[in-house]
Amino acid sequence: MNNFIESDASLEKCPALVLNADYRPLSYYPLSLWSWQDTVKSVFLDRVIIVNTYDRIVRSPSFNMQLPSVIALKDYIVPQSQPSFTRFNVFLRDKFSCQYCGSREELTFDHLLPRSKGGETNWDNVVTACSACNVKKGGKLLKISGMQLAQYPYRPSTEDLHRNGKNFPPNYLHKSWMDYLYWDVELEA
Ligand SMILES: [Zn+2]
Repeated sequence: MNNFIESDASLEKCPALVLNADYRPLSYYPLSLWSWQDTVKSVFLDRVIIVNTYDRIVRSPSFNMQLPSVIALKDYIVPQSQPSFTRFNVFLRDKFSCQYCGSREELTFDHLLPRSKGGETNWDNVVTACSACNVKKGGKLLKISGMQLAQYPYRPSTEDLHRNGKNFPPNYLHKSWMDYLYWDVELEA
């Protein structure tokens, strides 16, 4: 029984990288990964092609399967051309850094044109800011605040967000994933 639990636990650390039918990751950040259970299920449902495998076998009474490490969808999913305006996507556009001071701590949002002055909550008016800068700027206009903005807010494309997402690789990257990921940053050995 112990053995079973042990091997089951390490299976949890064997997700599959999920590629679209064009062999590009479905998403970079968070990286599109499926648990081994979902992966095995999708193989049985014939929805994916196994591109690469882990060096381990999943066994059940009725089958043995080399555990997939990279799978590709058989049906192409058309990426959203316009990313949704979400808190996460605003952070991603701004690379998880305060657009006033560059801090990566205690991030929140600032309305460039304050809401009290009619500023809207949209791509063109919301920037990532740390709480200190958010408080400092308060309800002031940028030019009156004396603060500098790293980049004016804009509506990003899906490509913009993909590009930024590549700067945040997850902690664990299996070697079989490397052919499908083009990180802009150096990977630690
Ligand atoms: Zn700041």
